[in-house]
Amino acid sequence: MNLRRKYLDKFRENANIDVGKVSELRQNSIGVRILDLAKMKEELLAEYKYKIEAHAHTSPASTCGQVSAEETVKTYAELGYNGLVLTNHFIYDYNYMKGRSKEDGIKKYLSDYYDAVEFGKKNNLNVILGAEIRFTENCNDYLVYGIDEKMLSEIYELLPYGIENFRKNYSMPKSVFLQAHPFRDGMEDVDAALLDGIEIFNMHPEHKSRNAIANLFAKKNNLNIKIAGSDFHFLGGKDRSISAILTRKMPEDSFEFAEILKSGDYLLQIGNNAVIFP
Ligand SMILES: [Zn+2]
Ligand SMILES: [Zn+2]
Repeated sequence: MNLRRKYLDKFRENANIDVGKVSELRQNSIGVRILDLAKMKEELLAEYKYKIEAHAHTSPASTCGQVSAEETVKTYAELGYNGLVLTNHFIYDYNYMKGRSKEDGIKKYLSDYYDAVEFGKKNNLNVILGAEIRFTENCNDYLVYGIDEKMLSEIYELLPYGIENFRKNYSMPKSVFLQAHPFRDGMEDVDAALLDGIEIFNMHPEHKSRNAIANLFAKKNNLNIKIAGSDFHFLGGKDRSISAILTRKMPEDSFEFAEILKSGDYLLQIGNNAVIFP
């Protein structure tokens, strides 16, 4: 039994602790159990030692992004992350597509990623490809992990036909398909059966993502893949390094990252502090 499972069980056993009586805790057995929790956290952080950002944008690939690939890599490396998944917006007829063939547009889209990979090598940060895709039917965004250039090209053709068509007709067994910030203003409800999971913590500082509702939705619909993302767009401190996926093993590429998410063997970290069992 791995440490995560062991502690999750232990945590559930302790779920009824009355935290209103903290001052008395050290004197009794409940106190010992609370102190155990601190030790659990320390041990979990030692075991799940790889810290990965799952949701980040760079400029110019994302028009809303304001930070270059180089600066983004530098920022995350300085903050002690081991991995960074770039999830630039992948939208039909988006800026990098205008006036270009599909192939050239995708190359342009990927140029931030390739730049980031190079800067990552110099800064000890493993940069992984992801994508935040949008169908033309509405403004919902979906995060895809387990993706490569060939898949981007195939997916692009399907963006005008909506999520339902996409999920029924496009097979991607080594990938995961998650709705980003599903309860943010402007999002439309989606049949949970079309999703592998959702982002339960979207930490973008300027949008109401209603993370608690997202969490409840995941629970009610048995969505097992639940992630946290900083939705990094800007420098200046507000949304950098606000969340992380913690793993035991460093994923080498996008498909390995998807595999870890599918296995459920990972933790979430919020605000560089709280450790959450997804
Ligand atoms: Zn954006
Ligand atoms: Zn985003």
